[in-house]
Amino acid sequence: MIPGDGIGPELANHVRELFRFCCVPVDFEVVIVDSTMASEDDINNAIMAIRRNGVALKGKKIGKEIRKYQSLCSAVYVGQKNTTLDLYANVMHCQSLPGVRTRHRNIDIMIIRENTEGEYSSLEHENVPGVVECLKIITRTKSLRIADYAFRTAREKGRTRVTAVHKANIMKLGDGLFLECCKEVASGYPEITFDSMIVDNTTMQLVSRPQQFDVMVMPNLYGNVVSNVCAGLVGGPGLVPGANYGEDYAVFETGTRNTGKSIANTNTANPTAMLLASCLLLDHLKLHAYANMIRRAILSTVTETRLHTADLGGQGSTSEVVQSIMKAVESTGPQTLSL
Ligand code: ADP
Repeated sequence: MIPGDGIGPELANHVRELFRFCCVPVDFEVVIVDSTMASEDDINNAIMAIRRNGVALKGKKIGKEIRKYQSLCSAVYVGQKNTTLDLYANVMHCQSLPGVRTRHRNIDIMIIRENTEGEYSSLEHENVPGVVECLKIITRTKSLRIADYAFRTAREKGRTRVTAVHKANIMKLGDGLFLECCKEVASGYPEITFDSMIVDNTTMQLVSRPQQFDVMVMPNLYGNVVSNVCAGLVGGPGLVPGANYGEDYAVFETGTRNTGKSIANTNTANPTAMLLASCLLLDHLKLHAYANMIRRAILSTVTETRLHTADLGGQGSTSEVVQSIMKAVESTGPQTLSL
């Protein structure tokens, strides 16, 4: 557990409280990496802890210059040489929730974002004063890998369409290669329709007719932007969890990776995204019964009791929402938990 800054520590406490309440067989090793102490050693300790445990639940650290890494995020996902965790797939499932009032209904989009290269290669330098080069790296290996992840996920989840998002009309070589790799992988999945869309049109289509999208796959920066648009469409950063998967490790967090420092320690943050992220972690650990029990209680609190935090227009506090989730577990838990 890496609580991070802002609302991270409060949300981490609520996850632990809920896990205790539900007798979830998970002990957290807490690793503090926040803006008060992020040296390279702290970040390396966090990475070693993730290596030890295989999984992590993570808040976000407020960005602060660290000599070697740009941020904990780039250290954890992208990594450097022998420290990499190679969490190459960022996955965010954005779904309309009954009970949350939004402009659009019936959204059900899976966003698969390449998480280790593209614009996040941490390769920037100032050639001469006033001239900066910032390198975007697109490789065939990593593009094929994320495309294959997207199509495999689509197949596993019974999805019917994958859309590759790009800007190959301008970045002809880089995004051109990404798109070519997606097309190549698509040919191995004849039952899944493949199409592509330029990123600017994609954002317009998302805000006007988001129901047209099913699974979306894209390079790093577009993934960051598109996942924030999608989270906004279904109710905001407090609702949607996110996951980062590699061959050996998995890290779970809120989908939009906000610190929420402006609402820290006010007991007003929406705990839903982080609690749902903890359910993804339980699923990853194959503790599906616990994950389902907690997820059901979270969703019934969001949809049925209409006890909402301020971000959703309600007056509930974070701890009231968590209490309500625990009540929902109490009323449905024993019947649904078949281990
Ligand atoms: P800040 O650091 O100003 O809080 P962030 O980028 O972390 O900004 O978050 C963007 C916005 O989303 C802020 O207005 C923040 O309050 C809000 N936000 C982020 N997470 C949550 C949450 N869990 N519940 C409610 N609002 C949230």
